[in-house]
Amino acid sequence: MNLNKPGKEHTRSYYAASVNEVTAYPQLTDHRSVDICVVGAGFTGVATALTLAERGFSVALLEANRVGWGASGRNGGQMINGVSGLAKIRKRHGDSIADILWDMKWRGNDIIRERIQKYNIQCDLKDGFLEVAPKASQIAYFDEYAEERRRHDFSHEYEIWDREKTRAMLGTDAFHGGFLCKRDGHLHPLNLCIGEARAAHDLGVQIFEQSPVTGIEHGSRPRVATGQGSVEAKAVILAGNAYSQLEPEHLSNLVFPAGSYIIATEPLSDDVIEEINPLDVAVCDANEVVDYFRLSADKRLLFGGACNYSGREPDSIQSYIRPRMLRVYPRLKDVRIDFEWGGKIGIVLNRIPALGRINDNVYYCQGYSGHGVCPTHLMGEIMSDAIAGTLERFDLFANIKHFRLPGSQWIGNQIIALGMLYYKIKDRIGR
Ligand SMILES: Cc1cc2nc3c(=O)[nH]c(=O)nc-3n(C[C@H](O)[C@H](O)[C@H](O)COP(=O)(O)OP(=O)(O)OC[C@H]3O[C@@H](n4cnc5c(N)ncnc54)[C@H](O)[C@@H]3O)c2cc1C
Repeated sequence: MNLNKPGKEHTRSYYAASVNEVTAYPQLTDHRSVDICVVGAGFTGVATALTLAERGFSVALLEANRVGWGASGRNGGQMINGVSGLAKIRKRHGDSIADILWDMKWRGNDIIRERIQKYNIQCDLKDGFLEVAPKASQIAYFDEYAEERRRHDFSHEYEIWDREKTRAMLGTDAFHGGFLCKRDGHLHPLNLCIGEARAAHDLGVQIFEQSPVTGIEHGSRPRVATGQGSVEAKAVILAGNAYSQLEPEHLSNLVFPAGSYIIATEPLSDDVIEEINPLDVAVCDANEVVDYFRLSADKRLLFGGACNYSGREPDSIQSYIRPRMLRVYPRLKDVRIDFEWGGKIGIVLNRIPALGRINDNVYYCQGYSGHGVCPTHLMGEIMSDAIAGTLERFDLFANIKHFRLPGSQWIGNQIIALGMLYYKIKDRIGR
């Protein structure tokens, strides 16, 4: 890493082209002393810093590039309940923790909604997420979702759609049905991340961009170093996720970066919108390797998917993703693609986010396996609770043993790619 070279600017995405604020926080060039130092300004880092600042801690937030530069500023913007792996935690602990898990499932959504309101963050939030079934067998999931909501007296709107209704509402015959939930939704993720960082800054969080952390000196007050400065704190939180290479002795080969890619069309006419998504809901399929799409505030179709687990970048994102979009919407064949971009998802083998402590005062959370918009916010709260001494939810995750693949990360990625090939084939069968 060249320490004199500034970090990178945002990738050329639709989001970067439509930000509310171009951030320009300073580089760290001196020595600071705070209660908590957070490394990485994606949702995990920013949400944690904001929660800690709300609770009166002094916080420094160090970002290698720009606020929201990683997956948080590039994702599909689908605000979906749940945390991947919760079902495995439930299996381990049984019914005694069913209510805690149900609350955790929705807590990330609630935090986001509370913050948008409290800090007046303009990020195009829309209610409504529709999970769709490319295979007839997946319809059974939707009955389970409805049953779960009935059990918990769910007060928000939800509906199971049959094939006819799905065809009528999405203007495609690609799906056998869908499950609509209005407590979920979609938003402009980069504007949310930047808005939360602004709120944190207003509460006193010291934010530094273009300040990659190069190492941590452990001790009773750990010291985090960048090329030109350092921060000493009571505790450190590592939130670099799939982009981080810090603490390899403890964290390497735990999270595997996988590429996911998105294209954004030109703005679509009102007639086309009326045919393909008049309710303006986010849509994601129920496959293992998902495709997802939604409309932006200026009526572009943002279509993403095709996770690449091997670590090899596609030669052209558009030629990788556009055929998938045309399978769902052949009528868009003449529509111009204005933006194409990709980002790294952090995959964990057992799909449970890797939350834990390297020692008493260095925490980490990473690996949301492609589903992080809401879970990052939950984890920020859980880590903030742990720092203040409340460990109940923290321990549910921290006590999970994560398997670290032997060998280099490249080998790990090839093993995962091979494993995922099985699921990709399974997704294709029975359409
Ligand atoms: C294309 C794509 C689409 C997705 N779609 C969705 C979706 O629709 N819904 C959903 O729920 N999830 C989605 N996800 C997943 C979701 O975006 C992530 O789970 C989530 O944003 C992870 O947030 P994070 O803060 O942990 O990591 P990131 O957002 O990746 O942030 C990590 C930050 O740490 C910084 N960093 C790393 N190392 C250092 C260092 N040494 N020093 C300082 N800074 C450092 C990086 O520069 C980066 O800014 C998608 C992901 C991708 C890539």
